[in-house]
Amino acid sequence: MSKLRTLLKALWISIKIKGPVSVIISLLGFAAAFLPVLLAGYLRALTDALQMLAGEGGVPGKALKLFSGIVMLYIVQVVITNVQQYTVGLDEIKMERYLKRTIMRHKCEVRYQYVENYDDFHNRLAFIEEYAGKQMARSITYMITVLQLLLAFCAAAFTLWSVSPFIVLILFITSIPAALLSYFQQEETFRYRAKWMEEGSLAIHYFHIIGGGGYSYDGLQEIRHFALFDYLKARWRAIADEYIGKKNKIMARHIKCNMAADFLRSIVYLAVLFIAARAIYQNPVLGLGTFTLVFTLSGQLQNTAGECLVDIMVLAQNIPYMQEFFYLDKLEREVCPADSGEEGTGEITFENVSFAYPNTDNKVLQDINLRIREGEKIAVVGENGSGKSTFISLLCGMFDPLTGRIRVGGADVGSHPAAARKAVSVVFQDFAHYETSIRENITISDKLRNAADQEILELLQKINVDDVVKEQKNGLHELVGSFSEKANNLSGGQWQKISLARAAYRNKAKIMILDEPTSALDPVAEAQLYHNFTALTEDKTTILISHRLGITSVVDRILVFKEGRIIEDGSHKELMAKKGYYAQMYHAQAQWYV
Ligand code: ADP
Repeated sequence: MSKLRTLLKALWISIKIKGPVSVIISLLGFAAAFLPVLLAGYLRALTDALQMLAGEGGVPGKALKLFSGIVMLYIVQVVITNVQQYTVGLDEIKMERYLKRTIMRHKCEVRYQYVENYDDFHNRLAFIEEYAGKQMARSITYMITVLQLLLAFCAAAFTLWSVSPFIVLILFITSIPAALLSYFQQEETFRYRAKWMEEGSLAIHYFHIIGGGGYSYDGLQEIRHFALFDYLKARWRAIADEYIGKKNKIMARHIKCNMAADFLRSIVYLAVLFIAARAIYQNPVLGLGTFTLVFTLSGQLQNTAGECLVDIMVLAQNIPYMQEFFYLDKLEREVCPADSGEEGTGEITFENVSFAYPNTDNKVLQDINLRIREGEKIAVVGENGSGKSTFISLLCGMFDPLTGRIRVGGADVGSHPAAARKAVSVVFQDFAHYETSIRENITISDKLRNAADQEILELLQKINVDDVVKEQKNGLHELVGSFSEKANNLSGGQWQKISLARAAYRNKAKIMILDEPTSALDPVAEAQLYHNFTALTEDKTTILISHRLGITSVVDRILVFKEGRIIEDGSHKELMAKKGYYAQMYHAQAQWYV
């Protein structure tokens, strides 16, 4: 039942995507299913007419008329087949684009925990991208073809039945082994692919890292420098060879079985022709036309029965692929209540918040109770793995806490993540690089604000990052990124400056989060940034994560994280006077600067 529902769902999607013209052409294809039978009828009549002519008992006009009919039918068949093929091609492109859009939308709209591989999301998505999407697109074509073949089969079977029900039955029955084979083969392939998706993810990793599969250039310098290509390629090949070896074995077995099934079909076809020839020899009244009819329709029947059964089996086997695709619909999406239009306040509260990453028991944040008032400047410090980035992820609504409640900008983050995000402007550690102009790279953070170039330049000047634009021939309109025609790729520090400008451009947000915002900057640029810290953060509530404890003097308050807890909370002066963990860290770092 659920399989039928899956099929109907897929069919409905295909109809929606095909559009009316394509649906009409598909219907035309159903009418075309009767053409072979019509042709066979004409051929039979033509053969009889020719036989009569040969015996000098017929009129050439009749044979000519029949011949013209056959020509017409062929023309109609060729036109319909080609138009149909063209629309099938177009439909498949449309379908694949729809599938791609759906996959992308899900990646960006599902709850963020999936991105952390909750529910084996990565492997399943890779499987959908690699196979399920394509199979789903093909299934739609299969569904239509199955219906057309079924009609063609019924028409041929009905006509041939009047000649000999035995022939119909024997042709049909001997098509079954090939169809069953196809079913089991498809099933084996599905199982093999699904298994491989798990085993082969490492091979995919090596493939990508050595530059295969598209646009990833990360790490290519290192691979060159350490001359790692052959080494990594060997790893990839070892896994890939094993996969290809197993796949070849399966393919060889499938081909042997298919050959046996084809032999059976051919033997039966020839036997049917022999029976027909013998019957006509014994009873000439049947006429040569009967032989022509059996000759054309038996082949027709065998082909349509075989193809139809195989396609039904393939369709049945494609249902798991479709179900895997529809798995996307079952994913929890982020709650997105309608935008209130308000920007929110600058307050942040955490009440008894604890958190463990999906699929883990380890509480990486525990009992976080915190109130950050509007306009406060906070630094978050702590050793690696103490929970600082996780704290920011929760604050931005990427995950739900295990216990407790988080309010950001006056909105409950769990139930109104979009409202909370609206209140916040942020520079993430792994900020994005957009392949477009510098201007768009900056203004993309607030699509409703349409600032003039001059306004943006003043903003860049204010926060001390205007040198990025000054160096460009086309200023703000310079295209940047590795795909830019002029290969105007920026340095890591320049990109980071742009990400700071992007955060600052979103000026209505009352909260600003900066996660290691100077990690790629040179010391002078870093000093300038902190010198101008107020220019960047204005009167916004600010949370700054940094390992450089020197900058904690520019903030009002410091939160010290250790093993998922806030163990100290106070101003630089207070924490130094306390001589606790913060003071220890500070001294440890300071000794390098004396
Ligand atoms: P920090 O930012 O202070 O370096 P994180 O917040 O990144 O620390 O990490 C806190 C803890 O959470 C670490 O023990 C880390 O191993 C764990 N952790 C971080 N990200 C994930 C994740 N995606 N899945 C599981 N555990 C994670």
